[in-house]
Amino acid sequence: ADRARLAALTGPGRTADGHPVPLLLNVGGAADLTDDAEGVGLFRTEFLFLGRTSAPTVAEQQAAYTELFAALGQRRVVVRTLDAGADKPLPYLGLAQEENPALGVRGLRVARANPTVLTDQLTAIAGAASATDAQVWVMAPMVATPAEAAGFAQAVRAAGLAVAGAMVEVPAAALHARRLLDHVDFVSIGTNDLSQYTLAADRMSSDLADLLDPWQPAVLDLVATCAAAGREAGKPVGVCGEAAGDPLLALVFVGLGVTSLSMSAPSVPAVRASLAGVTLERCAELARIAVDAPDARTARQAVAATI
Ligand code: PEP
Ligand code: MG
Repeated sequence: ADRARLAALTGPGRTADGHPVPLLLNVGGAADLTDDAEGVGLFRTEFLFLGRTSAPTVAEQQAAYTELFAALGQRRVVVRTLDAGADKPLPYLGLAQEENPALGVRGLRVARANPTVLTDQLTAIAGAASATDAQVWVMAPMVATPAEAAGFAQAVRAAGLAVAGAMVEVPAAALHARRLLDHVDFVSIGTNDLSQYTLAADRMSSDLADLLDPWQPAVLDLVATCAAAGREAGKPVGVCGEAAGDPLLALVFVGLGVTSLSMSAPSVPAVRASLAGVTLERCAELARIAVDAPDARTARQAVAATI
């Protein structure tokens, strides 16, 4: 019993009946790593590109990626390619001012007019991957269509990297997750942007917090669609938005069929303990309760009351 209690406090994520759910970290660099992390589920690479007048060179990028990968040993790291755009303007990308930057040229869309920003980044990631033992997966932000997923996967493989994925942040991508998975090896759901775009509510607006809530049953339905697509394709479906760090919502995601959860380091202990307290079957019941609820508040309360 002591060993079980200790496992609930440290070690890999698993349900009470032993179903593994890797608990991964969202990081901006090696400084955000913790020793007991199972890996990195979201490496935000923007920091290398912000606050400068020219793009970082391949060598500069490779050095930064190598530092993080080396610190991970043989663990997994999911690298997200540059998620810049008119909301995070980088002068050297030559992006136009936009009326609606959240709906504009951001994420993977930046590569349309600036393909070398993506190919240079992939070259640097591949160089760092071959210099270290980490399992390096690469994913693109703001994918909307299967064709974008296919183009990205092709670029990743052309760089000599083995595992390509797409973030699901756009409702179109969630609805057609099965078609995305014809081209990529995994998907990872970014609930911050997926909530924003599903409810058409700016993620920076505190007036709209009720709409932005990831417990919104419509958002949970889209997560369920992705999880079902992953099951059918036999491919992983993670969640890497902030919602994965909510110890109750994490159970709902697992019950919907999500295969890994990525969050900031301070959220890991509570999510690990929460998972250790329930069986997979129980998670599936909680997921049904949440999806059937009429609204986000009721969904949260109903799950909290059941646990
Ligand atoms: C998300 O949108 O949920 C996500 C993980 O990406 P970011 O928060 O960096 O937009
Ligand atoms: Mg996002």
